[in-house]
Amino acid sequence: AEAGLVTAGAAASMLLQAAACMTGTDPAKIAQIPDTTGVKNELVIHRSHRMGYDQAYIVAGATLVEVGEGRSVKPGELEAAINDKTAGVIHICRGWRFGNLELPEVVEIAHSHGVPVIVDASGMTPPLENLTKFVSQGADMVGFSGGKGLEGPQSTGILCGRSDLIEAAR
Ligand SMILES: *Cc1c(COP(=O)(O)O)cnc(C)c1O
Repeated sequence: AEAGLVTAGAAASMLLQAAACMTGTDPAKIAQIPDTTGVKNELVIHRSHRMGYDQAYIVAGATLVEVGEGRSVKPGELEAAINDKTAGVIHICRGWRFGNLELPEVVEIAHSHGVPVIVDASGMTPPLENLTKFVSQGADMVGFSGGKGLEGPQSTGILCGRSDLIEAAR
């Protein structure tokens, strides 16, 4: 990845991803959140990717916009959810086996609208090749747990990706 940051866990990475997408490196916006008045604050997420940890995005001030019916999402549904309030598109990597969009397809749609894709890959190690796979598939920021398959201390994590967004997260 272009840049990286040690975080206090994957959940902390999720919060920082949301914040970075909303504020960039604008000091006034950084000081303002979680009040997002006048700030792009929508994060699009597959309905089937919702889970307890996604509160971390909301804590940063983001509003989650769900797409899809049940366990299936069509490209047009993702496309239709993106508007000028959209700060990013969330992709939770968890070895899903049902009708979700794959990460490369999500990246293609989001990037065609100039919107970053943020990935939660908390438990996606092993295999270690996943540490680089999602960035190579075009994800703008990816978060990993230090305390799961990486076997580091519980309260650690890695956030990596585009240098401007990592700078914003920092
Ligand atoms: C475990 C988990 C997290 C939180 O990870 P921590 O490193 O404990 O903060 C976030 N997202 C998913 C999908 C997880 O499985």
